[in-house]
Amino acid sequence: MKGVVFTGNRTIEFQEFADPTPGPGEVVLEIKASGMCGSDLKLYRAAPGEAAKALGVGKGGAVIAGHEPCGVVVAVGAGVGERRARVGQRVMVHHYRGCGVCPHCSTGWMQLCVEGVAEVYGITGHGAHAPYMKCPAQTLVALPDALSFATGAAISCGTGTAWGALRRLELTADQTIAIFGQGPVGLSATQLAASMGARVIALDISAERLQRAKAFGADLLIDPTAVTDVPAAIREATHGLGAHATLEASSSPAARRQAVQSVRTWGKACFVGEGGEVSLQVSPDMLRRQVTIIGSWTFSTIGQAECATYVADRGIDVDHLFTDRWTLAQADEAYRLFDRQTSGKGVFLS
Ligand SMILES: [Zn+2]
Ligand SMILES: [Zn+2]
Repeated sequence: MKGVVFTGNRTIEFQEFADPTPGPGEVVLEIKASGMCGSDLKLYRAAPGEAAKALGVGKGGAVIAGHEPCGVVVAVGAGVGERRARVGQRVMVHHYRGCGVCPHCSTGWMQLCVEGVAEVYGITGHGAHAPYMKCPAQTLVALPDALSFATGAAISCGTGTAWGALRRLELTADQTIAIFGQGPVGLSATQLAASMGARVIALDISAERLQRAKAFGADLLIDPTAVTDVPAAIREATHGLGAHATLEASSSPAARRQAVQSVRTWGKACFVGEGGEVSLQVSPDMLRRQVTIIGSWTFSTIGQAECATYVADRGIDVDHLFTDRWTLAQADEAYRLFDRQTSGKGVFLS
């Protein structure tokens, strides 16, 4: 089969790989939807050979891209019980492989494996930008019948990541949350937070992304380049107090600092955007305001299943996140467009 490989400096190649066969405890999926995630751009833009290192988890080598897998089980390996996986089952993949038995793997957090995460699909292990994909049966998460494969793909990283961060923030309906960056994760957070009844302040430097945030339920839009003082603008919109919570999905050092400065006393700021640094004044920004800063990395298999159930039960239109639907053969064009970071989110469908 042919799989999409990031070959560095904004290039991709279709490379030939053997059709996967399941080992003990594994399954093979036919991929029906494979989403494009903001973190893929780090790999896409990296220098040749540096792609896997870009997220700090790399061991190099040619791997098939794509870490938002969703499809149908087509082959089941030895030792996989009927209740765990069966041929024809509609599934998402929790896109990490760990040792499978340590305290974190056993509770559905394979990315936190004490032995180090063995594979992140699409980054250090073969991902979903291909017709088929192999993974441990333990990392499958059932896709509710009401959800499309594209929605399942989004929940497998971007939307699930937004869900995980909102859960860590313990957001409630009476609160105001400011969400920095309205790319796929930030926009998902806007959609989910609004669906939970919270008031959402959406921030982005792209007018197009801000308009999408409004369509997804944001109550107030702020372009950080159009105001002199972002935390002051947020305080002004919250009776002088600041937001109860902030979620930082842009990875911008300035936005990270503003996300901490924009929460009210006793507020919580959550960092979701990967990479880089932040500079804070510990006393005024944090300590003297009793601020909690949270780092949130994706979600567990349990969290992924909860997110899917929530989206299905509330009828949330996650498919609407996708502005571009592609076939795998259009991968070059798809990543060129995504690289401009002005549009929404793309997905490969088959
Ligand atoms: Zn991702
Ligand atoms: Zn483990």
